[in-house]
Amino acid sequence: MDFFEKYKKELSQYDRMEKDFIDDDLIWQQLNAAENPTKQQVRTVLQKADNCVRLEPEETAILIQNKDPETIEEMYQLAYKLKHEVYADRLVLFAPLYCSDECANKCKYCGFRCDNGVMKRKTLTQAEVAEEVKVMINEGQKRTVLVYGESPNTTVDYMVDTIRTVYSTKTDKGAIRRANINAAPLSVEEYKKLKKEGIGTIQVFQETYHHETYKYMHPQDTIKGHYRWRLYCMDRAYQAGCDDMGLGVLFGLYDWRFEVMGLLYHTIHLEKTFNGVGPHTISFPRVTLANSTPLSRHLKYKVSDEDFKKLVAIIRLSVPYTGMICTAREPKAIRDQVIKLGVSQMDAGTRIGVGAYTKSKTANQLKDAEQFTINDEISLDSCLKSICEIGEIPSFCTACYRAGRTGEEFMKYAKTQFIHNFCMPNAILTFKEYIVDYASKETAEIGNKVIEKYLKQLEGTEYYNKIIDGLKQIENGKRDVRF
Ligand code: SAM
Ligand code: SF4
Repeated sequence: MDFFEKYKKELSQYDRMEKDFIDDDLIWQQLNAAENPTKQQVRTVLQKADNCVRLEPEETAILIQNKDPETIEEMYQLAYKLKHEVYADRLVLFAPLYCSDECANKCKYCGFRCDNGVMKRKTLTQAEVAEEVKVMINEGQKRTVLVYGESPNTTVDYMVDTIRTVYSTKTDKGAIRRANINAAPLSVEEYKKLKKEGIGTIQVFQETYHHETYKYMHPQDTIKGHYRWRLYCMDRAYQAGCDDMGLGVLFGLYDWRFEVMGLLYHTIHLEKTFNGVGPHTISFPRVTLANSTPLSRHLKYKVSDEDFKKLVAIIRLSVPYTGMICTAREPKAIRDQVIKLGVSQMDAGTRIGVGAYTKSKTANQLKDAEQFTINDEISLDSCLKSICEIGEIPSFCTACYRAGRTGEEFMKYAKTQFIHNFCMPNAILTFKEYIVDYASKETAEIGNKVIEKYLKQLEGTEYYNKIIDGLKQIENGKRDVRF
């Protein structure tokens, strides 16, 4: 399939644009102007951030360039405080479902690229998708992100079929309640088709916002090489009614400081264009090793653990209302640390090979079908226990999107910090469901204690009695109880 031909009309509008909203020179000017800020400069930005408002690029640049340990520690503390104020102490769990590793692109960092001969190519049939979903449901998953390469076999109609299969597959333990999508950019008409199927967030990572690096990483004879087709895909998704948008950068391709500024400029563009609606989520994967992919081993801009922690905190401080996703690409030790810096979602029990839930119990088992390496192979149950041990509460909540709290409506809640009035009750209820249906003895034991702790905090609020009632209903067999 010639993707340039397919999207010819839409592409031409981007080709005609004089410039886009990422100005590389301006970003570097702002970063250079903020070099070695004083403690006072950093604290002034933190005072503003404490009001839970989105920062301006000049302010974020100050945080990025801060190298002073004392005020970096203050940044960390405030990032966690903001996450708590917006989303409460809850962490939402999901697992990806890879539907296809066929891809026409040649992204230099990715195991799925078409010129990687060692990959066994496979696009799941609908029956195979259903088998994968059954395994996921029986392990306790309620939320997934469907992942696809870009190929003639994974057109939007294939995606529609897979979404239908995911939502209609049930076991005696229940069903997947929210399916997000991570796929190549689509046209407005194609996004409309996805919207009709009730998908959650549309995720497209820009990979790198730096124009030259983007060009180098994505050969120009592939559709992925078209920077603006990707940069403006959230605009097209929004126009099609998909108003929960997920941004992301693949960290390690270019200087992390520039990329954080890119994410902020993208956020500002969306807010300006769509009546204040910014990204529903931001993802910040670091490149991990990919099979037969030399670039993944030799990264000029590899991000150190220290810088990674800093960039997580800075994203939380700069875009306080956004959901922040840390995936199992990161090892457990790092994930435990960044939970305290503002992360609000993570995956567990993850398998990223095509067909891997049916074929294997953990990640990294199907080398010729996996896009990259997973560094946290933890099972869902162990992950939940570990989240409880560090004092947070796991959540399988899907209430906002199913109650229509998306886009502008969601932003209204998230930006006014009201969301924890939904988040915490729903975390308690959905985690209780997991405990009753799936938990190991150890996870149930600590999980029930965590539920008690958070219930206590809600004593005296208008929600308390309703939650107690919901918990009783769950124990009596009712499912999907939510606010
Ligand atoms: N093909 C679609 C696209 O490019 O948008 C779907 C995305 S791909 C299957 C999911 C994401 O994985 C990519 O957007 C990229 O950020 C990330 N990725 C690719 N190679 C990676 C690697 N070696 N390590 C970590 N993440 C990687
Ligand atoms: Fe294909 Fe996406 Fe991998 Fe690029 S990142 S080669 S588009 S699957």
